[in-house]
Amino acid sequence: MKPILYIIIPCYNEQEVLPITAPRFLAKLTMLRDLGKISDESRVLFVNDGSRDATWDLIRGFAAADPHYLGISQSRNRGHQNAVLAGLMEAMDRCDITISIDCDGQDDIDAMDAMVDAYLDGCEVVYGVRSSRRTDSFFKRFTAQSFYKFLSAMGAEVVYNHADYRLISSRVLREFANFKEVNLFLRGLVPLVGFKSTTVSYDRTERLAGKSHYPLRKMIALAMDGITSLSVKPLQLITGFGLIVALVSFLGVLWALITAIAGRSVPGWASMTCIVCFVSGVQLISLGIIGEYVGKIYLETKQRPRYIISERTWEAKKSERKS
Ligand code: UDP
Ligand code: MG
Repeated sequence: MKPILYIIIPCYNEQEVLPITAPRFLAKLTMLRDLGKISDESRVLFVNDGSRDATWDLIRGFAAADPHYLGISQSRNRGHQNAVLAGLMEAMDRCDITISIDCDGQDDIDAMDAMVDAYLDGCEVVYGVRSSRRTDSFFKRFTAQSFYKFLSAMGAEVVYNHADYRLISSRVLREFANFKEVNLFLRGLVPLVGFKSTTVSYDRTERLAGKSHYPLRKMIALAMDGITSLSVKPLQLITGFGLIVALVSFLGVLWALITAIAGRSVPGWASMTCIVCFVSGVQLISLGIIGEYVGKIYLETKQRPRYIISERTWEAKKSERKS
């Protein structure tokens, strides 16, 4: 039996780029099928992440024109990670393998051949890894590389230069479904599931149309989510730093006592001010980091759904059913 492949594609306000890339995904699916690697039951599954433009209309149009296209729509914008998760969970029981990929054509779809080959060779997870970032701007390249370095310094282990272009088998997805956290950082969580994995490298090119939805602000938020979801190292760093400050303070107290007893104490306004400013700064940062974790606990305890699917292209809308 040939495996059924679902290509999962999150889309948020992508009306410019979808008409260009959607046929490419379908062509890749057809090619893999013609090569005899995957079943004809394979599908391209778009996940509309609450777009405000014509993205969902486009997806419905594709699905009406060719049965190999499917689409689901989230009830509102929930972010890239939740959109990918919605697609993976929706596909899990319908297929044998999923490949998640962005819809903007930046990730080379030809890497899918090697991913499927690796699956056929027995790998359950295949990570797409960017071999070059030549076409990214210096700023994007610098921030992205700092992102990976910072994550690993903070104890969050991720596959270097791997974003969310990966193959996951449905077997792994069924185990992954037991990871119930709402603080989602897929690229850090998938390695935790384990199973045999490998990497496939590809060239990352420029977006074919439209613009990026990942400004620096969202990248920092994603980095914070990644760290707090994978590691408690920042809390340990606070403890370590606290110990050092405490030791230095102890020496300071000794020094102050000795100078006072020797009768050589001076008004010392500047030194006092510096110490107070420094220590209160450290305390506020530490409180902020602890608060970050407390906030994440707060969100986890609510156990709100991680995605809500409002429409599926294969289910008729209520208004259409009535008529
Ligand atoms: N995306 C999404 N929801 C969002 C933001 C982005 O589903 O809230 C999708 C987007 O349509 C694209 C992918 O996530 O398919 C990656 O986004 P983008 O290309 O803007 O990020 P970049 O490649 O610049 O990091
Ligand atoms: Mg992109």
